[in-house]
Amino acid sequence: MPIINSIADLKNEAAAWRQELHQNPQTCYEEEFASAFVKNKLQEWNIPFRDGYAKTGLVATIEGQKNTSGKTIGLRADMDALDILEKTGLPHASKNVGKMHACGHDGHTASLLAAAKYLQDTKNFNGRVHLIFQPAEEGGRGAVKMIEEGLFDAFPCDYVFGVHNWPGLPIGHIDMRVGAQLASVDEFNITVKGKGGHAAMPHLTHDPLVIASHIVIALQSIVSRNIDPVESAVVTVAGLQVGTDAFNVIGDTATMKGTVRTFNNDVRHQIRDRIETIATNIAKSYDATAELDYEFQLDPTINTADGIAMAQEAASAVVNPNHINTECPPSMGGEDFGAYLMEKPGAFICVGQSVPDDKNSPHNHGLHSPYYDFNDDIIPIVASYFGTLCEKYMPLS
Ligand SMILES: [Zn+2]
Ligand SMILES: [Zn+2]
Repeated sequence: MPIINSIADLKNEAAAWRQELHQNPQTCYEEEFASAFVKNKLQEWNIPFRDGYAKTGLVATIEGQKNTSGKTIGLRADMDALDILEKTGLPHASKNVGKMHACGHDGHTASLLAAAKYLQDTKNFNGRVHLIFQPAEEGGRGAVKMIEEGLFDAFPCDYVFGVHNWPGLPIGHIDMRVGAQLASVDEFNITVKGKGGHAAMPHLTHDPLVIASHIVIALQSIVSRNIDPVESAVVTVAGLQVGTDAFNVIGDTATMKGTVRTFNNDVRHQIRDRIETIATNIAKSYDATAELDYEFQLDPTINTADGIAMAQEAASAVVNPNHINTECPPSMGGEDFGAYLMEKPGAFICVGQSVPDDKNSPHNHGLHSPYYDFNDDIIPIVASYFGTLCEKYMPLS
């Protein structure tokens, strides 16, 4: 069974929704346009929803022809854009200068809307579907906020599913895996404080630059010497600021910032503690101080085995089963969808969107590139996948 027919018929209309969303990007809890757009469509189709979650977020509910199974599925789309100046030159390019849908969340929203229309028109299932439209996936932890504001209390879900478009995969291909699909994402800042002074008299200073340099090098040993070699982790110091523009001044403060990525929350905590021990003790050995500010941002996105089994079955009905890779490598990128999977079983899958035959296609550019554009041709794939998931998990008979 390929794309669901009525969803295929909806393709041009859904592409127009996507392009309108693309023209009006907003970021981090300011997604008023997308939120109002989604509500308008839901009202037009008589789908009840509750808004006010995480500022611009909302949850719509569709009941099947029967609702005696007691089963529920949550389907999620993110609605936010990025602070990027679009350079695609496309007719539907961003009208908000400096903001851009460069991660394809415009397409995720349009795809979930297409699924909503199909599910409402057919109701070909026995149970209940909750459609989760969330803000602030990019750096705002919108998923966490939705959960904190009672998402799963008000809308209990047996399973929760999400997708991401994937420019690294051709259209018609889908990647998924049991276990970690994407990494945890944390940010850290280290501030080294000591005495600065004249660059010609270093013996009268603590030289925080030298201390910070030792810390940067020592942090490299966390992954190689402290973490179990069969685990995966990244510790990257991405920035170091110290001193002034002057060549002859030793500054009194050095600040470092970076990120930690893992697939395992125990490893994550272990790394945080090692960073603190290493930084504070190296600084201490030079009679200076170091302070760690560590922010746990995103949980790893960990798919459950039963969630992947359901995802594979539904995806196999939509695309060529030979084009589904259930053993794809995980990525050290992050997603706030991991927060849902910390609460409920389910799966987050990568839906291919590149066009290998067209070297210049904007759909081939990487996520967060100013030249990237979501591929509208995958809306029917994603919407059919969502629809099929519901019908297979909650069959009418
Ligand atoms: Zn992104
Ligand atoms: Zn994204």
